[in-house]
Amino acid sequence: MDTRIIDGVALAGRIRSALHDRATRLATRAVPPGLAVIIVGDNSASRAYVRHKVRACADVGVRSLLVELPGETTEADLLATIAGFNADAGIHGVLVQLPLPKHVSTGTVLRAVSPDKDVDGFHPLNVGLLVTGGTGFVPCTPAGVMAILDAEGVNPWGLHAVVVGQSSIVGKPVAHLLLQKGATVTICHSKTQDLGTHTRRADILVAAAGRANLISREMVKSGVVVIDVGINRRADGKLVGDCDFAGLVGVASHLTPVPGGVGPMTITMLLANTILAAERAAESGSRVA
Ligand code: NAD
Repeated sequence: MDTRIIDGVALAGRIRSALHDRATRLATRAVPPGLAVIIVGDNSASRAYVRHKVRACADVGVRSLLVELPGETTEADLLATIAGFNADAGIHGVLVQLPLPKHVSTGTVLRAVSPDKDVDGFHPLNVGLLVTGGTGFVPCTPAGVMAILDAEGVNPWGLHAVVVGQSSIVGKPVAHLLLQKGATVTICHSKTQDLGTHTRRADILVAAAGRANLISREMVKSGVVVIDVGINRRADGKLVGDCDFAGLVGVASHLTPVPGGVGPMTITMLLANTILAAERAAESGSRVA
């Protein structure tokens, strides 16, 4: 079987170009989209992520504001910073980079972000809307997975989707999105016994466990669409996904590489959510006026 290697960089570029047009239209309506990114402490991986996010904002015409707070910032001070952005009409998205220092409650902080500006889709209201099929904000990596399937013409309706991983930021939301699209969904996790019996039944396989080489050639059926969300750094420094990429070539019908698959789509969906938030703000502003 010919395996189509999905180019996430190219797809992200096409989507970003459309987002740039939407941001330009908003700017002409005097609502230039604005994103506040808050980072606490000096976790070097987190700092690299936020730098990427800020750079991507500039590419599509989203104004970004990076707030770097020291690691000893109190929860009260962080909540006050979030409250300031919640009340700022020029800011449409508020993102708090995770993980937070141990003395700060992640749940309390995520609940403090206004659901209308929750472009990460982590507020319980948006999580609830995702589960009930409403129109809240969808977390960025799951939204990126669905955008890839859509762009590749893979319609989940009636297919069996197997999601490996059940985290709140990837596995569970992607499973709900697949369910909404008419797939029969199996969620596997670290307690799942004999993972291969489940993955071999997948028409669509989303691997999001964070374990290199978890999914081998023997664990999938011919023609499966494989979306590899995992990012793992090998001892030699190379980044790899959760799937044995070389082993799956020739078996899968579609396959995302790592890097260059889901990763570029994640930040693109953050930009999309921010622009959507600004469009909703512009809409409600024009209704009020
Ligand atoms: P997590 O650690 O919160 O969750 C991992 C999940 O995998 C858990 O539900 C766990 O039960 C399951 N799991 C672990 N080992 C397993 C095994 N042997 N068999 C079956 N299930 C197993 O991680 P996360 O935040 O959901 O991220 C998952 C992976 O995706 C990580 O590698 C992360 O770096 C990557 N990620 C990538 C992007 C991106 O933009 N490409 C974004 C977010 C996360």
